[in-house]
Amino acid sequence: AAKARGRDGFALYESSLDEAVRERRRLELDLRQALVRDQLEVHYQSIIDLDRGQVLGHEALLRWNHPTRGLVTPDEFIPIAEETGLIVPIGEWVIRRALHEAGSWNGGNQIAINLSPVQIRSPNLVQAVRQALDSSGIAARRVTFEITEGALLRNSEANRAVLLKLREMGIRIALDDFGTGYSSLGYLRSFPFDRIKIDRSFVADVVEQADSQAIIAAVTRLAAALGMRTTAEGVERIEQLDMLRTLGCNEAQGFLIARPVAAADLEEEEAQLALPTPLPAEIIDYRK
Ligand code: C2E
Ligand code: MG
Ligand code: MG
Ligand code: MG
Repeated sequence: AAKARGRDGFALYESSLDEAVRERRRLELDLRQALVRDQLEVHYQSIIDLDRGQVLGHEALLRWNHPTRGLVTPDEFIPIAEETGLIVPIGEWVIRRALHEAGSWNGGNQIAINLSPVQIRSPNLVQAVRQALDSSGIAARRVTFEITEGALLRNSEANRAVLLKLREMGIRIALDDFGTGYSSLGYLRSFPFDRIKIDRSFVADVVEQADSQAIIAAVTRLAAALGMRTTAEGVERIEQLDMLRTLGCNEAQGFLIARPVAAADLEEEEAQLALPTPLPAEIIDYRK
């Protein structure tokens, strides 16, 4: 009986694995069509400056409107896009689209765009960014690229050179999802990041857990000492926002503040923003 169960279990495992492979293949084929069929969209989530009590800018977040599946989230298709290399044309499209849209509505604000390690390795990135900046007319200093630790782990010297070139153009570089990788501390020395985005897993329990508080307080102090700013990700409750501010975070982003929305809905979304009172000017100057 044990043997039979084992065989059944194995058969079941094998067929669901098959199914997963087929499902992935279907998504891949659909994704190849997504750009030309105009199924991709960029949503924008507001980021606020806690020191100054104002909107700092927006993060561009890719959305795929699949004809039968509905809205497919980036976590489901970015890995496929990376494995197939589709992330390169898709990513260039995101850059063009986000710079163009942000150029027309967000005043002097920042626009943050996620960059995959595969994009950083692609030979055309810097030129594509230059062209997108030129045709949108947006100043490079208003643009931030967000990368995760993975971007500098493999092939790090070449990637570092690309990021430095972008930085020389005036673009800012943020370290995304900080605290979730392996080499967090050494990492901060490996590249002159402009900001650190503290992963939402630390923010989730920051009100209840003294250890999360200690980690965030240490990261904000370290960042300040290195001349970097900190953004807290995934802020969902007002108590978290108050705590993060007390712990020295400069910026915040999360559903409490604003949801990611299409450009057309951003004005309405931001009309409801409750901004914190600015810190006294001495403290802001001191932190600079
Ligand atoms: P990320 O860059 O860390 O983006 C933040 C994610 O957290 C977004 O998920 C956002 O919708 C979500 N989020 C924001 N506030 C909250 C909150 O209060 N609570 C919770 N639970 N979640 C919140 P999204 O849009 O599903 O994107 C997931 C990831 O996909 C992004 O993580 C980023 O790594 C990647 N991604 C998104 N757009 C692009 C893109 O254009 N290019 C590349 N290469 N990657 C992208
Ligand atoms: Mg990001
Ligand atoms: Mg993140
Ligand atoms: Mg992430």
